[in-house]
Amino acid sequence: MLIKEEQDEIQSFLTDASNTGGGRAERVLFPESAEEVAGALAEASRAGTPVTVAGAGTGIVGGRVPYGGAVLSTERLNRVGEFVREEDGRGFATAGAGVVLGDFQREAKARGLLYPPDPTEWSCFIGGTVATNASGARTFRYGPTRRYVRALQVALTTGDLLEVRRGEMFAGADGSVEIPLGGGRKIEARLPTYTMPATHKHAAGYFAHPDMDLIDLFIGSEGTLGVVTEAELALLPQPEGVLAGVVFFKTEEHLLAFVRDARERSLETRAEKGEGIDARALEYFDGEALKFLRERYPLVPAGAAGAVFFEQETTDQTEEALMGEWLGLVEKHEALAEESWFGTNESDRAEMRAFRHALPVMVNEWLARQGQRKVSTDMAVPDDKFPEMLRFYKETLRAGRLAYVIFGHIGDNHVHVNILPRDAAEAVAARETYGRFVERAVRLGGTVSAEHGVGKIKREYLRALYGERHLREMAELKRAFDPACVLGRGNVFPEEFLPAPGGN
Ligand SMILES: Cc1cc2nc3c(=O)[nH]c(=O)nc-3n(C[C@H](O)[C@H](O)[C@H](O)COP(=O)(O)OP(=O)(O)OC[C@H]3O[C@@H](n4cnc5c(N)ncnc54)[C@H](O)[C@@H]3O)c2cc1C
Repeated sequence: MLIKEEQDEIQSFLTDASNTGGGRAERVLFPESAEEVAGALAEASRAGTPVTVAGAGTGIVGGRVPYGGAVLSTERLNRVGEFVREEDGRGFATAGAGVVLGDFQREAKARGLLYPPDPTEWSCFIGGTVATNASGARTFRYGPTRRYVRALQVALTTGDLLEVRRGEMFAGADGSVEIPLGGGRKIEARLPTYTMPATHKHAAGYFAHPDMDLIDLFIGSEGTLGVVTEAELALLPQPEGVLAGVVFFKTEEHLLAFVRDARERSLETRAEKGEGIDARALEYFDGEALKFLRERYPLVPAGAAGAVFFEQETTDQTEEALMGEWLGLVEKHEALAEESWFGTNESDRAEMRAFRHALPVMVNEWLARQGQRKVSTDMAVPDDKFPEMLRFYKETLRAGRLAYVIFGHIGDNHVHVNILPRDAAEAVAARETYGRFVERAVRLGGTVSAEHGVGKIKREYLRALYGERHLREMAELKRAFDPACVLGRGNVFPEEFLPAPGGN
């Protein structure tokens, strides 16, 4: 196994896309097989050496930033297995933890198959997306990564390699967990007793409810229970065509009514397995976001108070009728129809996707000019609470005279508020404001992280969501899997809930 110890060779493993500072490690390990991963973990456990698991480092909550010990890189676990296509057009394939998501999606597409999870940043690894239960724009139609995980191979710090297949191993009705290991040994634990928020997306803390399929415990566990070495992933038939649009609105009220209508009709179509409106993405841009984008895209209409980006899958038979239905919806809700953009061919759609992706890039450039860091939220709330949450975001930001943009996955009641501090005083105010948003989201039954996870930078928000008792229950569960507490230290719950590494 390759091991790098020269500090100048391992610098890129000390950060992730959150730019969380202070990362340090003595070495980076590059195992080439699941057995090597299990062996390295067992050794670290014996020696009491902390191990931080590294995917591609595109995570935005500091999850792979190490604070001492070793980094275990999954980049050499990059084998893709055979793609199997079943009679109904669906399929599955096995991917090593270090397979790049974009490569896997392309390989699936070449075989007429679709791997739906699509967290915008395609350079991430399959293992990283499983560990964070990644979502993205298409989650409105397809759900998060969890829905596509059929089986996992997980290396534990006990040196065991677990094979977990969906539908085979369940928690007890009383929340008890029992996982057989080799040689008559077993892991015995209890699930945390919280009730997870009733939001469409949720990526904060361990997935837990009585009777649950135990494969779900590992998905979204952010490198704290074991190392995912391989995943068997479900695939859908590749759609024939996609219709996309960016629809501009004069007023926020019209925009929200359009989203409500598009959402309800999509859910109805799905329930009836019909052929009407069924968006796979419903994405929001507020008026402030459009002001940013107008600098690069002069075609953004001057009078627009907001916009919605949508995508819907089509066939040759349905394309025309669906275009008609969407245009009907656009007119019904008094959108700026003439100035909106629609397209069905690949180049139109690529332009619309580029428009959508331009916003975070432009925001980052703006912040770099101010010498400030972005403060970005990831909360989602239940359906009936979304209008109240959105109103609270805007009123609070305006009252505090803070610059901001709001955009994201409105179909899932999940938008990202980016607060843009112009100086140090505003940076302090932005963090205080974030705290108020967390408090309100929790009060409304929402989650503190819908898709990015908790990592190291959102642990206090997890405390706000679940409270001390439940954090302790999570830490207890972790200790059952990782008795020496060496794996993913600092992720998910604060260090104070765990004994020192190796000090069991
Ligand atoms: C521009 C941009 C846009 C994004 N948009 C979205 C979005 O729309 N939706 C969304 O959900 N996310 C989004 N993300 C973040 C997303 O979480 C990551 O892209 C991805 O899921 C993490 O994969 P990674 O391989 O980069 O993992 P890393 O960043 O390397 O690691 C992430 C976490 O997983 C753990 N981990 C990694 N691999 C394993 C493994 N094999 N076993 C156990 N633990 C492991 C790490 O320890 C860490 O805690 C975005 C990121 C960027 C930069």
